[in-house]
Amino acid sequence: MPPVTANGADLKAAIQKYIADNKVMVFSKSYCPFCKKVKDLFNSLSVTYTALELDQIENGGDLQNALHELSGQKTVPNVYINQAHVGGCDDTLKLHTDAKLLPMLSENTQTYDYDLIVIGGGSGGLAASKEAGKLGKKVLVCDFVKPSPIGTTWGLGGTCVNVGCIPKKLMHQAALLGHAVDDSRKFGWEVPEAVKHNWNTMKEAIQSYIGSLNWGYRVALRDKDVKYENAYAEFVDPHTIKTVNRRGKENTATAERFLVAVGMRPRYPDIPGAKEYGITSDDLFSLPYCPGKTLVVGASYVALECAGFLRGIGLDTTVMVRSILLRGFDQQMAEKVGAYMEKGGMKFIRGCVPTKVERLEEGQPGKLRVTGMQDGKEVVWEGNTILFGIGRDAVTEGIHLEKAGVQFNTKNGKIYGNDEEQTNQPHIYAIGDVLEGKLELTPVAIQAGKLLAQRLYGGSQAKTDYVNVPTTVFTPLEYGACGLSEEDAIAKYGEDNIEVYHSNFQPLEWTVPGYDPNDCYAKIICNRQDNERVVGFHVLGPNAGEITQGYGAAMKCGMTKAQLDTTIGIHPTNAEIFTTMDITKGSGEDPTKTGC
Ligand code: FAD
Ligand code: NAP
Repeated sequence: MPPVTANGADLKAAIQKYIADNKVMVFSKSYCPFCKKVKDLFNSLSVTYTALELDQIENGGDLQNALHELSGQKTVPNVYINQAHVGGCDDTLKLHTDAKLLPMLSENTQTYDYDLIVIGGGSGGLAASKEAGKLGKKVLVCDFVKPSPIGTTWGLGGTCVNVGCIPKKLMHQAALLGHAVDDSRKFGWEVPEAVKHNWNTMKEAIQSYIGSLNWGYRVALRDKDVKYENAYAEFVDPHTIKTVNRRGKENTATAERFLVAVGMRPRYPDIPGAKEYGITSDDLFSLPYCPGKTLVVGASYVALECAGFLRGIGLDTTVMVRSILLRGFDQQMAEKVGAYMEKGGMKFIRGCVPTKVERLEEGQPGKLRVTGMQDGKEVVWEGNTILFGIGRDAVTEGIHLEKAGVQFNTKNGKIYGNDEEQTNQPHIYAIGDVLEGKLELTPVAIQAGKLLAQRLYGGSQAKTDYVNVPTTVFTPLEYGACGLSEEDAIAKYGEDNIEVYHSNFQPLEWTVPGYDPNDCYAKIICNRQDNERVVGFHVLGPNAGEITQGYGAAMKCGMTKAQLDTTIGIHPTNAEIFTTMDITKGSGEDPTKTGC
């Protein structure tokens, strides 16, 4: 039994969790004779109970006060059975003499088919179900992929593995390799001038790797005794779901608790031809032909990353931007991301939205005409493929949350949860992309799923910390960030209270091929009023993801500017720039690099 150290409202939540997690819960004191009587009774009946000895834990007195407020009973023992308040010693003994105790204890046992049903076998759902299975719980996980409008489907594992992080990063790598082939000539490799990229070779290699991951997930579930159904699940009532598999076969299953981890799917604009002729990231990574000349609509993570690798493998690529690049990110960094892409031949149509898509010719790829509206004027683009990266919607529409009484945001379908990922229905939880107001990232979903299962079934109290989550945009020049953008830091602390240190830097590897020494850039934003603690970390350069991961850990430990200054760099690396930054933005001094 872990110690209860929380305060105030947290104490009540901790008590409720003890009551919810334990069929027979006795709040007790180790020296109390009445408590001993109750425990002796349960022992004599061979009833498993959990006793929390309030005199032996930190905050035991506060906990007893909170228990008083919750139960209306001040003294111990304070007994709960099946989450119902029984009372003290006399109440418990009387239940037994009235022959009501044993029937009450046998209530609700084996009522449900499963301890936990997880709807959605993506990053979050799989992490939670494997952890719950490992902790000995009976778990069912349902995963089902509805085909995209052009019919693309995939296997177990969710967005990240099949149509997200994994194929995206591998295609980014394909693009980087093309760049490296160019550089290699300067390093002495006699590579023929005309090197060609083969889309199908890349696509098939990546899809084959994904196939192995799909299989690995199945094996991992089996190893943890988690039952997997490749079926679409929806709520019938708060404790029951209906599942329908690919062949239309229906089943029902009940559970004590549920976890909704259904994720999101790409959005299409409501314009003629979008769904008929457009594709999204759901289709791109397994497209059976090279997309050719491509228009990417949208300007956030998905759009810029996809546009980046398409251009990187040599395709004529244009990005149609409605407003700004990378909304929500530091805008100085976002503009630098865009500028580097433009240098690499990316075209941008700014301040523009598509209004219709027409097919000019069928084929693989065919020929399309896209009309857009820019400053009240029509813009026309012609090419082979239009890829929409204009955001994603939570896929809760078909799962009948209303039948389970779960509250959600009717505008975006996302589910409301507290800081323990619990919905308004105490036995139903939500994690990952579907959870309102949280980051849509794989490691966030995984952490939330794992910690949730450990809290529910492993006696843990650890919650997911959604603050200072590091992230990286895998554009041609990667952009890694952790903490606040400069704009958000100014809004939070005031311009006078922040100090921004910045520097351009040149990767050593870029010197021989002769690249611009000032494309890469690093900055940290520090809170002057808190010992120059770093509240924002930003880096634009090769392998920014690898750099940001390490500094993200340092930010978790409360990294300050002084600590960075006393850290000795690793030379020659890009990450060492953060140990030698001495130019503040406020000084107006030029941060561009002139030498090593
Ligand atoms: P998902 O992984 O989407 O899993 C949900 C699963 O539930 C899916 O398999 C779905 O089919 C299934 N499902 C839905 N409804 C039902 C139902 N009713 N019954 C049964 N099953 C159902 N994040 C990163 O951290 N790094 C990256 O580099 C990165 N790149 C990305 C690139 C792209 C192109 C995209 C689109 C996303 C990327 N992400 C990245 C985001 C990341 O993929 C998501 O944050 C993550 O997958 C969310 O996990 P999840 O468990 O919430 O949902
Ligand atoms: P997003 O962040 O919601 O961005 C949507 C983009 O589309 C914005 O640029 C938006 O422009 C534009 N847009 C929206 N509606 C439009 C319309 N009708 N016409 C033209 N443009 C339109 O969505 P996302 O890029 O799909 O990313 C979804 C999530 O996936 C992200 O939050 C991220 O967490 C995750 N992800 C992570 C990674 C990674 O970790 N590397 C990679 C990919 C995705 P405005 O700015 O004008 O609104």
